[in-house]
Amino acid sequence: MADSAHKLVIKNIGLILSGALEKPIIEGDTVVAVGGKIAAVGYEKDLDTDQPDSLIDAHGVALSPGLIDSHVHPVIGDYTPRQQQLNWIDSCLHGGVTTMISAGEVHMPGRPKDIVGLKAMAIASQRWYENFRPSGVKVLAGAPVIEEGMEEQDFKDMAEAGVTLLGEVGLGSVKAGDKAKQMVAWARKYGIQSTIHTGGPSIPGSGLIDKDVVLEADADIIGHINGGHTALPDDQIVCLCERCGRGIELVHNGNERAALLAMRTAFELKQSERVILGTDAPAGSGVQPLGILRMIAMLSSLGDVPAEIAFCFATGNTARMRGLDCGLIEAGKSADFILIDTAQHAPGKDMLESIHQGNLPGVGMTVIDGVARSARSRNTPPATRLPEQVT
Ligand SMILES: [Zn+2]
Repeated sequence: MADSAHKLVIKNIGLILSGALEKPIIEGDTVVAVGGKIAAVGYEKDLDTDQPDSLIDAHGVALSPGLIDSHVHPVIGDYTPRQQQLNWIDSCLHGGVTTMISAGEVHMPGRPKDIVGLKAMAIASQRWYENFRPSGVKVLAGAPVIEEGMEEQDFKDMAEAGVTLLGEVGLGSVKAGDKAKQMVAWARKYGIQSTIHTGGPSIPGSGLIDKDVVLEADADIIGHINGGHTALPDDQIVCLCERCGRGIELVHNGNERAALLAMRTAFELKQSERVILGTDAPAGSGVQPLGILRMIAMLSSLGDVPAEIAFCFATGNTARMRGLDCGLIEAGKSADFILIDTAQHAPGKDMLESIHQGNLPGVGMTVIDGVARSARSRNTPPATRLPEQVT
């Protein structure tokens, strides 16, 4: 963490993406952060940039809020038993992800399914990711999978102990809409946000959650509305967008055609602020370090959405929906940034056009809480220009 007076100046920024749908590009070439929070955004000549503790020369590349992955399944530290991988979170940082949100620590070997056990694991998971940020990445975890027999007091106990999320409803024994509705409502009453598994079973042992269950449960996020991986029929996806006013989450580990359908439906409804992105990693299709960037490029190109809008799905939209203090470039928010540029030899007149044509940008640097966490990405295609840490 940056100390409370640490001053970061990033100058010579070529393009500032705000993360806010209503104004996705902001004027300026400089961002100043103090104590890990954004202090000012604008032109260098108008800002107090004197005596920074650290100075980054962006050399003309773009700055975006750090990307938020709305749907991951972490277990412990930077290790996942699901695909036996170490340092998968660090790999995602190199793909521009600075915040991850757990949709349940379901891959824990021997995961307890009795009520006292699942509550204990949720509280412990919340703590170990609060106490340890892999490579600086903020992992919001401690998302229990609800099971039959839970009572209101259980949700109250967890909330009082610091639990703020439910894992995907439907991955445990609660699969009926009426039971799920009751528990989601208890969770909401105590400030715990919920998400629901949508679509066919992910892996042997999980089950189908169709539109009727999603509508009845009324969780805060329609988790992977494009399936994880098996999507619901098109008419059910459209129905969920129309009749359930909750978050429309599109994941990399899902059906891409269904993701495009859900996004287009959200635009038709003039509700693009509901669209948020995740990977569902590490799921059956593995860890996708570039998964969020790939979703941005896929939705922008195949869905014909300006790239600066697609970035909002992975930044400001998610932050607003989930009450996070990052994801937007505005004073007071966390100084979580990525510095990105057109990939070398990518077509298009600039980075936004190259993304709109389906190409990924190159990540040149990541910053979390006002501190540079990684330099040139080892995972993205190389950026044409690179920022430089001067001091
Ligand atoms: Zn799922």
